[in-house]
Amino acid sequence: MLGNFTYSNPTKLYFGKESLNGLNEELPKYGKNVLLIYGGGSIKKTGLYDEVIKILKDNNKEIFEDAGVMPNPTVEKLYEGCERARKGNVDFILAVGGGSVCDYAKAVSVSVYSEEDPWDKYFLRMEDVDNKIIPVGCVLTMVGTGSEMNGGSVITNHESKLKIGHVFGENVFPKFSIMNPVYTFTLPEYQMVAGFFDIMSHILEQYFSGEDDNTSDYLMEGLLKSLIHSSKIAVKNPEDYEARSNIMWTATWALNTLVAKGKSTDWMVHMIGQSVGAYTDATHGMTLAAVSIPYYKHIMPYGLAKFKRFAINVWDVNPEGKSDEQIANEGLECMEKWMKEIGLVMSIKELGATEDMLDGIAKGTFILEGGYKVLNHDEIVDILKESMK
Ligand code: NAP
Ligand code: FE
Repeated sequence: MLGNFTYSNPTKLYFGKESLNGLNEELPKYGKNVLLIYGGGSIKKTGLYDEVIKILKDNNKEIFEDAGVMPNPTVEKLYEGCERARKGNVDFILAVGGGSVCDYAKAVSVSVYSEEDPWDKYFLRMEDVDNKIIPVGCVLTMVGTGSEMNGGSVITNHESKLKIGHVFGENVFPKFSIMNPVYTFTLPEYQMVAGFFDIMSHILEQYFSGEDDNTSDYLMEGLLKSLIHSSKIAVKNPEDYEARSNIMWTATWALNTLVAKGKSTDWMVHMIGQSVGAYTDATHGMTLAAVSIPYYKHIMPYGLAKFKRFAINVWDVNPEGKSDEQIANEGLECMEKWMKEIGLVMSIKELGATEDMLDGIAKGTFILEGGYKVLNHDEIVDILKESMK
């Protein structure tokens, strides 16, 4: 049965080939000083940087830059960004890049006016924001995280070996996001497919929880079918606009909070994957891919009915003459085959994990209770050992 909920999503989206023009509608709503945040330079190579600068200048903005946001942004970088925002007395933050840039922009937006250390307050203690927030807008160049339409912000602390995501409330969601699928054509294949699995994982971690009949599960099955279909096309032809635009839209719906409403969620693959990321700094989507099959095999006996439904409704497994276990297993086999076909990393060893890290990775994994089995430390170590193969 659906639980009670309130739903609203304040992020305005501009989608399609002309979507960058949306900046001309949005920028006049904010003050003069803009902090332009971006990553390691892909936007300079593609020419997007020049286009954005021109639009900012046309709108009479004073531009302050914060470049070099790394994949898996760090707490040191966050402190640096806050300093830049403070110095520029910025009124608005424009993030141009992938999930790391968007996540980081949100972290800066809530941290600039925090009187306490933002790592302690917003990441270790997960407190709500009670200070001034600088509004954020995004121009998205990498697909997967859903950061363009949610309050998620993941920051890594290498010293304490923790990678923590805070899901902030609506007041921190981007005010708007510009989504032009063409921008994603220049992504290296490794990043592209890692993003595809991030989407898959966001959906599965909301799907594999609960035994009730709810609308969200039907929506998620549709999203999964679209993703599987389009991902196969995109891997063969990365410039297939139809496939890339469908995937971009699926990524947004996978994690803009809608499908989680009224139902329970799991999120353990992200918890384990993030801890792997804290130790290896590996690409987010690949950390999820490498632990997923061992994780789902481990929890399958506790949620067999849902795994059977997944096999039949998502992977078109023919149930005739088979036991529930056989059907469920066939579903996971189909998923594994698809993962290998699109080129995902299937082992954390390949991501730089070593045997001596496993205990620490398990200790750094936050254990949540919404899945079919609440894991203990030893089970996480077992899953990690399976993921080393
Ligand atoms: P990303 O870390 O933002 O980007 C990965 C790489 O792709 C970077 O090296 C970047 O280069 C490059 N890149 C981006 N766009 C490009 C383009 N159009 N052409 C060529 N290269 C491009 O990747 P992401 O997967 O979107 O974000 C990962 C982060 O998001 C992780 O920290 C993860 O934990 C977090 N996350 C957040 C949420 C959420 O709800 N908010 C959910 C899941 C994960 P440049 O730096 O040079 O641009
Ligand atoms: Fe993710």
